[in-house]
Amino acid sequence: MTGSEAPLRTRLWIGNEWADARDGATFATLDPATDETIAKVARARAPEIDRAVEAARTAFADDRWRRMNPHKRSRLLWKLADLVDANADELALLETRDNGKTLFESRRIDLPGVAQTIRYYAGLADKVQGDTLPVAGPFLNYTLREPVGVVGAIIPWNFPLSMAAWKVAPALACGNAVVLKPAEQTPLTALRLGELAAEAGFPPGALNVVPGFGHEAGAALVRHPGVDAISFTGSTEVGRTVMREAAATLKKVSLELGGKSPNIVFADSDLRASARGASMGVFYGKGEVCAAGSRILVERSACDEFVDALRGLAAKMTVGDPMAPTTRLGAIVSGEQLDRVMGYIDSGVREGARLVAGGERVKVGGCGNFVTATVFADVDPAMTIAREEIFGPVAAVIPFNDPDDAIAKANDSLYGLAAGVWTRDVGKAHRLAAEIDAGTIWVNTYNQYSPASPFGGYKQSGFGRDLGFQSALEKYTQLKSVWVALDG
Ligand code: ADP
Repeated sequence: MTGSEAPLRTRLWIGNEWADARDGATFATLDPATDETIAKVARARAPEIDRAVEAARTAFADDRWRRMNPHKRSRLLWKLADLVDANADELALLETRDNGKTLFESRRIDLPGVAQTIRYYAGLADKVQGDTLPVAGPFLNYTLREPVGVVGAIIPWNFPLSMAAWKVAPALACGNAVVLKPAEQTPLTALRLGELAAEAGFPPGALNVVPGFGHEAGAALVRHPGVDAISFTGSTEVGRTVMREAAATLKKVSLELGGKSPNIVFADSDLRASARGASMGVFYGKGEVCAAGSRILVERSACDEFVDALRGLAAKMTVGDPMAPTTRLGAIVSGEQLDRVMGYIDSGVREGARLVAGGERVKVGGCGNFVTATVFADVDPAMTIAREEIFGPVAAVIPFNDPDDAIAKANDSLYGLAAGVWTRDVGKAHRLAAEIDAGTIWVNTYNQYSPASPFGGYKQSGFGRDLGFQSALEKYTQLKSVWVALDG
C-alpha cells in the first residue's frame, strides 16, 4: 500500500462522528519530503472546540462512560491497541508522510510503542483505587480516586501518534473524556486514532479529535470553562502561555516542554559506544526530539578521538526519501522549521564554533526540507547553539575538565528534561545521576522509553509526568476523602 492509497480522515472527530468546521474552513497538511499537499483538513476554532468540549462533557456525565465497569474500560483499551496493531502499516505511512520521519522509525519504533503504551494503560484502568486511612476518633476515612473530568490534550508534531497515546490512553484509563488537539503540521494519525477508538467501542464523546492551529483551537481549548485539565507537550514558550491562560479557569495543568539535554562522555567510557549513543541521541528523529542530547559534553582528554568518531557517524546518517529503507535522516517537518535550524547552524559558524560535519541544506529529488547531520566542535557554553533548543540534527560538542566541571556545565541551562552519562566508573555514574537536574538520566544508553517509566522535566522543561503508573494517576485523577462516623 502506498501513502496515497491509505484512507485519509480529514474532518473533525466529535462524538464519534465526522464533522466539518462551522464555516467550512480547512488548512493544508504537507508532506515535508515532497512539498505536496497531502490533504485539506477541517480547521477547528472556538465554535468547533465548543462542540467538542460539549460532546466530551456529555460523555463524562453519561453513565455509559462514567459508570462503565473498569474491567470493560480496560478491555476497550486492549481492543484499541489491537486495532492500532492491525492498522500499523497504514498509520506508519500516514505518520511518515505527515511528519517526514523515516518509515522505519514510524513502523518499527513509534507504532509498536503506541500499542504498548495503550496496553500498559489498559492495565491501569482496573487498578484506580484509594486507601483507607488511620484517622483518630470513631471514623472510617477512605479516599476515592476519581477522574478529573474533561482533559484537553495538546500535542506537538514530532511524535504525533506516540504523544497522542501517551496522553489519551492514561486519561481514558482513569475514566476522563478527552479532547485531543494535534499539531497543525501533523493531524492525520490522531484523526484515525479517534475513529479506531470508536471501532474499539469507546462511547461517543469519550475521545474527540480537533485539528487546528495553536492560537485558535489550542488557545480555545485552554480557555474553555468546560475543560478541567490541560495536558500539554510543546515548546517552553507556548507552555508559558498555556499556564497563564489556564489560570483564568484554574485548570489542572501539566507541561512537558523543551530541552537542551547534556550527553556527558567521560574518557573512561567505551568511546565507540558513547559516540554511537551520542550520535543516535542527537540525530534520532532528525533531532526533532525534546530529549535530544544536543549538548555533548566530552572530557577534554578524549575530545579529539570522540569528535573524529562522531564525525564518521554523522557522515553515515544518509539523508533521503523517508520511505527508503536506506534513509537515516528523513525530512525536517516544515520549511519554517528548516529555516530555524539553518539559522542556528549559521549562528554556530558566526559565533566561532568549528563545523566538522554537515551543515548543508539539501533537496531530495529536487524537493523537500532536508539538512545533513551536523556536528560543531569547540563549542563554548555561552554560544547560542549551546543554549537554545534547535529541534534539528545539530550537535554541539563542549569540552569539560573533570566530573565537577561536567556537572556544572550540564546544569547550566534553563532546561532539565534529560541527560546521558557515559562512563565505566559506576560510582561516577550514580553521582552524576544524582547531581544532574533532569527528569530522566540515561547511563551508558540514550533515548530509552517505556510506558512504565515516568517522563518529564525539571526546571523550565515543565512539570507533571507523562507515562508511568503513579504519575498517570496523579495527573488524570483527583482524590476525594470520605469521612464516615461510626458512632452515629
Ligand atoms: P513546537 O515548537 O513543537 O511546534 P509548539 O509549542 O509551537 O511546539 O506547539 C505544540 C502544540 O501547541 C501544537 O499542537 C500547537 O498547535 C499548540 N499551540 C501553539 N500555540 C498555542 C497556544 N497559544 N495555546 C494552546 N496551544 C498552542
